Amino acid sequence: MCSAVAETHADWRYLHAVIRWNTEKVLGASDSELEKYVIHEYVHCLTDELVSYATNHHQAADMGQVERVVSELTLAIQFAFRKS
Ligand SMILES: [Zn+2]
Repeated sequence: MCSAVAETHADWRYLHAVIRWNTEKVLGASDSELEKYVIHEYVHCLTDELVSYATNHHQAADMGQVERVVSELTLAIQFAFRKS
């Protein structure tokens, strides 16, 4: 396990993913932080196909960009649910 809160390995072809949680990191997290972490990992599941596409077309996916997109989508989802 790396130093991240979680690692997600998604197989978009079969709508399957495994999320491994770093329980030491989430142990003291607030409900709000846990919500953000869960949504973030679910968004990784949804965007994994795009990362695979780039990799398969010999364009190494920039994981910094991936994390930024995933983080922004996480914020957008949280904002949308708070508005309703
Ligand atoms: Zn991430």
